[in-house]
Amino acid sequence: MRLVIMGPPGAGKGTQAVVVAGMLGVPHISTGDIFRANVSQGTALGVEAKRYMDAGEYVPDGVTNAMVRDRLTQDDCRAGFLLDGYPRTVEQVGELNAMLSAAGQSLDAVVELTVDIDEVVARLVKRAQEQGRSDDTEDVIRRRLEVYFEQTAPLTAMYEAQGLLTRVDGLGAIEAVTARIIAALAIDA
Ligand code: AMP
Repeated sequence: MRLVIMGPPGAGKGTQAVVVAGMLGVPHISTGDIFRANVSQGTALGVEAKRYMDAGEYVPDGVTNAMVRDRLTQDDCRAGFLLDGYPRTVEQVGELNAMLSAAGQSLDAVVELTVDIDEVVARLVKRAQEQGRSDDTEDVIRRRLEVYFEQTAPLTAMYEAQGLLTRVDGLGAIEAVTARIIAALAIDA
């Protein structure tokens, strides 16, 4: 299966993506995780990405698309993948389509995790206290949400028009949300 999981920062995307990818036996590809790994290893990509991440802005499309292209051509993606945090812009949607169609592939589904905005802010503030992520300060959280609603939320309409979108309520216990995702995808896992 080739899947995308979307939702605002703090919706629980990363947590659900790990569990669902494990159930489906496909790699979990989180662009945020790949950027963070590069930041902690001090690579050139990490140095560039950090400037944007710490400000709550998106890393430029050219950089992000090249990184995803490289990852999706690795062997473990042949049978499928779960993309978490990509695509996030209209341009990235186009690039992903191009990458997949060049390989004779297409997406099977896009899951949008929906959550109440106050709940999301509360979760992000809690995560900031627990994990100390440098992009989880209050100002940056606010900016990340703005960027999400400006640039990424509109993508769901594009996927909806293609009949790929399935909306899942992201509120509640982790296991309950996972069960909703699996049911929405109509798969046995
Ligand atoms: P995440 O862990 O998915 O919330 O991503 C953390 C940060 O990494 C984001 O706030 C962006 O700065 C950057 N990032 C992750 N994925 C993308 C993407 N698809 N396009 C641009 N920037 C991204």
